[in-house]
Amino acid sequence: MAGSDVVIVGGGIIGGACAYELARSGASVTLLERDELAAGASGRNIGFFGLPWDPVLDPMATSSLQMYLEVTADPPVPVHFDREPIGTLAVAIDEDDAAMVREEAAAAGRAGLRAERLDAAGLKELEPEVTADVSEAWLFHEGRRVDPGALTLALAELARRAGATIRHHLPGRRLLSRGETVTGVVTDDGVIECDTVVLAAGPWSTGLLRPLGIHIPVRGARGWLIQLAPPRPLLSHWVEGSARTLWRREVEPVTAREFSEGATRDDIGAVIQPSSDGTIVAGTSREPALAWSAEDLHVARAVAGCAIRLLPALADAPVLGTWAGIRPMSPDERPFIGWLRHGLFAATGHGSEGVILGGGTAVLVRAMVQGREPPLDPTPFDPLRFG
Ligand SMILES: Cc1cc2nc3c(=O)[nH]c(=O)nc-3n(C[C@H](O)[C@H](O)[C@H](O)COP(=O)(O)OP(=O)(O)OC[C@H]3O[C@@H](n4cnc5c(N)ncnc54)[C@H](O)[C@@H]3O)c2cc1C
Repeated sequence: MAGSDVVIVGGGIIGGACAYELARSGASVTLLERDELAAGASGRNIGFFGLPWDPVLDPMATSSLQMYLEVTADPPVPVHFDREPIGTLAVAIDEDDAAMVREEAAAAGRAGLRAERLDAAGLKELEPEVTADVSEAWLFHEGRRVDPGALTLALAELARRAGATIRHHLPGRRLLSRGETVTGVVTDDGVIECDTVVLAAGPWSTGLLRPLGIHIPVRGARGWLIQLAPPRPLLSHWVEGSARTLWRREVEPVTAREFSEGATRDDIGAVIQPSSDGTIVAGTSREPALAWSAEDLHVARAVAGCAIRLLPALADAPVLGTWAGIRPMSPDERPFIGWLRHGLFAATGHGSEGVILGGGTAVLVRAMVQGREPPLDPTPFDPLRFG
């Protein structure tokens, strides 16, 4: 098979955005996806776009916002992306949750986001269907809805129009090396030689690195979502029940003993999206992903229970479906972006914020792969920072 300047392994939001950014700069790009595009977490997430509260991640998210606004102004396939934030209501019922919501409000304030506390009357006026059991409520002036699967497709299609070769249902089987230099990727259709492999295979990235003796601590954390069809619109804002704090907790590995004893480690928090098509998508959870295929539905049921507790009118809404995705987590909730070896570049580990960070990641990847001045300081993202 013919060579490319760059082969990207993984057709999720990170691989799609990198293909777009590199191809439009004139690089010859091949993107390999072993399944369909956005088959991983990128097509299976709740589509929240807001600025992160980690100031180190802010410039990357701002760069994503700029890219997504441009791409979705005239997309090659239909993509929903709110031009303006619809607002996010963070609510708490229990005292523990109230402390977390206050912590969220303080973190938002430090990140320069506007947040205002609502009293019971204010909450009722803003979102009358939210339970009256809420003890504390804050309105954050942020939170757009994005269809992340469609956005991934749009980016890949724009990359194709800029000359990239998009190969789906073609796994990268192995990375090829000559000495200490990575020189290409082995596929079922033959070897693709290249100057640079960009590894964007989400939680599966580590499997390709292991044979080269490279270890980066990316762990898979499964998250469940459930889609419901209430007979009438129930919400106009995002509603969160201490979910952001859940996102910041590290996912510990399960030991063989715990596994043999059937121990589970599920964290559940509520995030509820009023979708633009009138349905409600509710999530989410966090548990170590031990098998790539979805395990049983007990976590999805708990997610539904959590959503009903916040929005009692959901109890009678028909369930349209439930699905899970696997987040590629890093220990410090910052992605791994940078050179691993000559010819091998990492772009993974985006955890719970891969869509928020995808566009900005691609801009950074393009600059670093092409040896240009990075648009932001890449040091916090060094893929070898954990040794
Ligand atoms: C329930 C849930 C809710 C979420 N909500 C949000 C949210 O609201 N906002 C947000 O920003 N983020 C959210 N996330 C996180 C976000 O989805 C991820 O951070 C992001 O999708 C990661 O993108 P990725 O491209 O790195 O990985 P993936 O989407 O997993 O893509 C990797 C791709 O690589 C492919 N692949 C693997 N191995 C190979 C191989 N050997 N050869 C070829 N292809 C290969 C896979 O098939 C996959 O398509 C959520 C995640 C979950 C699970």
